[in-house]
Parts: sequence; C-alpha cells; structure tokens
Amino acid sequence: MRATVLHAPGDIRLDTVPDPVIDQPTDAIIKVDTACICGSDLWPYRGEDDVPEARTIGHEAIGTVVEVGSAVSSFAPGDFVVVPFDHCDNTCPNCTYGAQNACDNLGFTVSGQAEYALVTQADGSMVKTPGQPDADLVPSLMALADVMATGWHAAVSAGVRAGGTAVVVGDGAVGLCGVLAASHLGAETVIAMSRHEPRQEIARAFGATHVVAERGKEGAAAVKEILGGVGGEAVLECVGNDASMKQAFGVPRAGGTIGVVGVPHGVELPIRTMFGKNIGVRGGMAPTRKYLPELLDLVLSRTIDPGKVFDLTLPLDEVAEGYRAMDERRAVKVLLKP
Ligand SMILES: [Zn+2]
Ligand SMILES: [Zn+2]
Repeated sequence: MRATVLHAPGDIRLDTVPDPVIDQPTDAIIKVDTACICGSDLWPYRGEDDVPEARTIGHEAIGTVVEVGSAVSSFAPGDFVVVPFDHCDNTCPNCTYGAQNACDNLGFTVSGQAEYALVTQADGSMVKTPGQPDADLVPSLMALADVMATGWHAAVSAGVRAGGTAVVVGDGAVGLCGVLAASHLGAETVIAMSRHEPRQEIARAFGATHVVAERGKEGAAAVKEILGGVGGEAVLECVGNDASMKQAFGVPRAGGTIGVVGVPHGVELPIRTMFGKNIGVRGGMAPTRKYLPELLDLVLSRTIDPGKVFDLTLPLDEVAEGYRAMDERRAVKVLLKP
C-alpha cells in the first residue's frame, strides 16, 4: 500500500510498504477514507522526538472496515468507523474506570496516513456511523479520532462547568476543540489565547467569548482583567511546551484547575505555586473511546462541527507539503485523502 513514512526529521515520503495484516483475533483492518496530520506528528518531524529508524506515521484515521479477526463481533466489512488514536479493549479495570488511555491492552494507530490501517482491540475501540456518512460530516468525524476528544478531555480535566470560566492556552486544532468543548459544556466565559487571526475566527465560531492576543505577563493581565481581577476556574493547556505551561500557570484563579493535554516536552511543574494557590493539574493522554459515543452523537446531530479546524485538504500524494504547511503554521490542520 501507499503509506506515509518518516525517514528522519524533515524527511517525510509516501512510500510503498506491505499492507497491514490481521495478527490477533481482536484486530481489524480499515481502508482509510480520510486521514490527517496531527500537531504531535510535528515533534518527530522537527527532530524534537527521536526518529531511530524509518517508520510509518499517522495516528488519526476514519474509514471502512475491510477485514476483522475471528474474535471481533461488533463490526463487519463495510462498516464506516471512527478509530480512536489510542486503541483499548474497553473492558479491563482501567477502561471500566474511564482510563481507556491506560488500557491493559493499549494500542495505537500507526499507519493512519496511508491506504490501510490496523486497529488492535477493534471491538473495544471503534465506533461506527449508521451507514456511509454525509460528505459534509466527514471532517468532523475525522476530528473525533483525536483532536476533538483531546480538547474535550482538556475541558473535562480542567473542570469546566456550566456558568463557569475557562481559558484556553494554545490555538492549534486541540486548543480550538478545547474552546468548542468548554463552550458546549456551558462555560459562560471562554477566553481563547491566540494571536493568529484565522485561528481567532475559528475560536469565535466555536464559542469563545473573548480572544486575548497578548502573551506572557501581558496575556495573563488581559485574562485577569476580563475575569474581574482573578484568573480562570478552568485552564486548558493544549500545547505541551514550557512556554505554554508557564502561560497556563499565569492564568488560573486560586483554587483553579489546569487540564493538560499537550504532550509534555521539557516542562516542569511549579509545585510551590500549585501548593500556595491550590492549583490543580489534571489530564494527560485522552481516553478517546470514553468520549466517542457522546461526541459521535453531537457530530451526527450537527450540534458541534469540530471539522472546522481543517483548513487545508490535500491528496495523500502531497503529504510532505501538508507537513510543511503545518510546520510553518500556514495551516491549522491538514486533511489527507488517500
Ligand atoms: Zn493526533
Ligand atoms: Zn482496557
């Protein structure tokens, strides 16, 4: 099959590789209908994660089941499915506790930006749409594989409540989905921190009541001014680097909570500040499958449209250009069509 392969930092190519095959009875294989590039794919692309050897890449995919293992009972060839980036059995003690991200049988999509992808723990992981989805819903369904579930997890972890206040740090696809989640969960004030106009526009469409373009101390001061001199109850940290975490710690009110979903790179938590101001930190890798049934309903009923985060669609053949566009921040998130 044709698959995106990361050979080394900055060296991404569409290669021909062996098709995935059913290895375990709980596996399924999907023909990828739509894939996309994730902000976290940029870590190895930029050399900020090691790339010890060439490997297929892409953990976000939706498509049609083409083959299932002998133990898969809930899905059959022809089903159109959303595949969470983190696969789980949805039955082990961690899954039943709502920590599907730490499933005893955890797996990941490893060839999402390709023609076919293997799904481990297919029964526990996947959700299906009733028949072939309408074309206009496809981008929003695509967003459920990771970014919308991750933004939702940030909002839930930060304790967003109806009538409360939320501040979102990070204006990538996850941050924007965090705005959408905070708004949908009923926060009365949702502040998006973004200095990029096209992203500010999406944030407003997703329910941001305010946009703060300033950063650092000025940004924190602007947030506090909006919130009557105190910070936000719920802060969503959606980037994962040190600058972003410092920004996140500049904006909660005493007693507030930071929901962290950016994969941490070189981050240290200020435990003294956390202690003195009673600031909680929750979150981590999203238990995507936990949220999928509810999020799928919200998309199918056209209540939320997280697909708005995709501002560039390319054929899979042009995946390298997609990486460049995201790396150079010319695109928020790139949709790929195999
Ligand atoms: Zn992702
Ligand atoms: Zn499990």
